[in-house]
Amino acid sequence: MGRIRVLDDHLVNRIAAGEVVERPAAVVKELVENSLDAGAGSIEVRVEDGGRRRIIVADDGEGMERDDALLALERHATSKLRSFEDLAAIATLGFRGEALPSIAAVSRFLIRTAARDGFGTEIEVRAGRISGVREVERGRGTTTEVGGIFFNVPARRKFLRAAPTELAHIVRTVAHYALAHPSVRFVLEHEGRRLIEAAKAADRAERIAQVHGRELAAKLVPFDAESSGIRASGFAGRPVDALARRDVQHVFVNGRLVQDRVLAHAIAAAYGNTLARGLYPAMLLFVDLDPSRVDVNVHPQKTEVRFDRSSDVHDAVRAAVAAALSHETAVPHLQDLRPGTGAPAPSASFAAALIRSEAVAEFPARAYGPQGGASAPSLLDEGSAAVDPGRRAVPLAQYKDSYIVAQDREGLLIVDQHVAHERVLFERYLGETERGDVHVQRLLFPKTIELSADEAVVFAAEAGEFARLGFLLEPFGGNAVKLDGVPAFAKDVAPDRLLRELLGEAARTRSAATGAEELRRRLVTSASCQAAIKVNYPLAREGMQRLLDDLFQTENPTTCPHGRPIIFRLTLDEIERAFRRR
Ligand code: ADP
Ligand code: MG
Repeated sequence: MGRIRVLDDHLVNRIAAGEVVERPAAVVKELVENSLDAGAGSIEVRVEDGGRRRIIVADDGEGMERDDALLALERHATSKLRSFEDLAAIATLGFRGEALPSIAAVSRFLIRTAARDGFGTEIEVRAGRISGVREVERGRGTTTEVGGIFFNVPARRKFLRAAPTELAHIVRTVAHYALAHPSVRFVLEHEGRRLIEAAKAADRAERIAQVHGRELAAKLVPFDAESSGIRASGFAGRPVDALARRDVQHVFVNGRLVQDRVLAHAIAAAYGNTLARGLYPAMLLFVDLDPSRVDVNVHPQKTEVRFDRSSDVHDAVRAAVAAALSHETAVPHLQDLRPGTGAPAPSASFAAALIRSEAVAEFPARAYGPQGGASAPSLLDEGSAAVDPGRRAVPLAQYKDSYIVAQDREGLLIVDQHVAHERVLFERYLGETERGDVHVQRLLFPKTIELSADEAVVFAAEAGEFARLGFLLEPFGGNAVKLDGVPAFAKDVAPDRLLRELLGEAARTRSAATGAEELRRRLVTSASCQAAIKVNYPLAREGMQRLLDDLFQTENPTTCPHGRPIIFRLTLDEIERAFRRR
């Protein structure tokens, strides 16, 4: 009794139809999925000419008996789906019974398969027609060979890209599946050259090292959390290592590689404002949930999914990734911050803002400032060495009135006080504006400010946003406005300067172009930057402690809203190595 059946028309009509084979990598994907569904412990992929000349996928999975192998080549023949109910909870990667016949229709195709060691069947297909069936010897498993893809469809063949491009897609595909299935051995060879060699790995961390190298693997922060029955686990790249390319993100739902907007948004939300625009962190995300809660039957290549409660999924992923980023291991080491290793350079406008704000008279950031004229503690101060296990970090000293030197359990920390404070203010203020409860400080003497014509235009367009940000403003005839109050945290900044900076930012941003959310983010960033403690500003130990405590309460203590690093660590290990104590 064979396992494979041809689906009835009723069920066929419910399956998202479409083209499965669009390029060599799509063939590799379908064949590798079949091998995984067959329970393979080892999958070897060999390609020639970027997959254009030949693709061979060999596995040691359950294989097929002769009759099943013949049936597998018919349209809508599958062993993975029987009834309409099955469609609602698919646990295998395939289910449509379309891949093999679709691939065989556009190639010189050969499948060699055995359900028991030694008793195999070989079937040859030319452009969709079976041209030979033979008994062969083969160990249990299946080998599928696809030659001359699109040889009989010149119109499609024309669209194949150059071999290196097609090969790059194949490498990504195999890397993806290798990452998702660490317990399976994967090999990828191009014309005899091994591109991926991943022995069966103990866990995902080991598999990442096999596929992407130890160096990258060591920089990733693991996470694993569950909420509302949704498990979100994986590895998150640190913001400071983010790159201007998206292809370092791999997302899997129940082991299936997908591209999904809800998940992409959740990842972006977790990183929030730690990244400069256009930078993407490395991400390996596995979302696992009951198969009945996710519809995988949406897209012909099965790369899109639909969740029954996407907000639950979004929140679970966001929380899991955010937790990873506030984790100690997310703090970069000194060598990670050298120019060119990923940390983005400060933007020109940010540097200009800093120069401008330092040129004006310093203003007291009272919450952290020196109290009663106490000078910063020296390195010789006593009683500063012990780390309270409840704290993350304890200050030891302030260097050049600008950098806090601290220690935690892992080693020494150096913190840039300006960007650290900026991060703290940014998160608090953004939260207040989003909730609509910004603390407003009324001015003792309302200030009349004469705006330039273009400032007046921006103000008229964004008056609502400025009100939300905590500015009490009224038109005062002509281009003048009367300022009655400012956001309390920025009360020590000269109010007209604060307002003008924000108007300038609003003029550059134009909410019509970027959306209201991005405009707000930038205005909040600008205000936080202006109000934050500057460098060359002495702090008392209590102030430093408070700032560190506040910093580690933020969602993202490692990068400022402009994407600059805030902190780095020298581990005890690194220090001991430097002194040859190890
Ligand atoms: P689907 O994977 O959607 O069922 P396919 O056309 O990819 O459809 O494969 C058809 C059937 O052939 C599968 O359901 C499976 O029973 C069988 N099959 C395909 N590849 C393999 C393999 N590598 N090992 C064992 N069985 C396979
Ligand atoms: Mg399949």
